[in-house]
Amino acid sequence: MGRAFSMASLSRTTAPAGNASSTRALFVFIGADPHTGWVKSRVALDRHGFVLTGSEAVAPAGGDAAMLVGRRPRLLETSCDGVFAVGDVRSGSIKRVAAAVGEGSMAIRMIHAHLARV
Ligand SMILES: Cc1cc2nc3c(=O)[nH]c(=O)nc-3n(C[C@H](O)[C@H](O)[C@H](O)COP(=O)(O)OP(=O)(O)OC[C@H]3O[C@@H](n4cnc5c(N)ncnc54)[C@H](O)[C@@H]3O)c2cc1C
Repeated sequence: MGRAFSMASLSRTTAPAGNASSTRALFVFIGADPHTGWVKSRVALDRHGFVLTGSEAVAPAGGDAAMLVGRRPRLLETSCDGVFAVGDVRSGSIKRVAAAVGEGSMAIRMIHAHLARV
């Protein structure tokens, strides 16, 4: 006879104490938080911290001179001129390997086009 799952001890990284809960099942969902704190002063992020691109990207208030002025960001381009974002970190992206790889290959083409314009 197999061993039954019956109890989980849950705690938040932001709170000191955990709670023990009776449960028969557990779904683990990890890897969903973007680590974008280091770019938030340079590119626009959504409310969850994912990088905005294309028509959804707008320069944050108080952005510096590198922020876009006078045009909308192009596909996969962030609010910062010539800076592109692909994969899981991009707001609205499909969080799957194939999508991240595909967006990466698209970005290469777009970066070449961008460099040809500057
Ligand atoms: C538990 C789990 C299971 C998954 N299962 C599947 C699945 O079955 N099928 C599927 O298609 N997808 C699955 N995914 C999703 C898949 O892993 C992602 O969609 C894919 O890895 C995204 O690729 P990425 O290059 O955008 O980001 P990542 O693979 O997350 O790569 C980002 C890289 O950037 C690095 N990095 C972060 N910050 C910095 C920094 N400041 N400086 C330098 N490097 C930095 C990170 O260390 C990491 O190596 C799963 C994800 C998780 C978490």
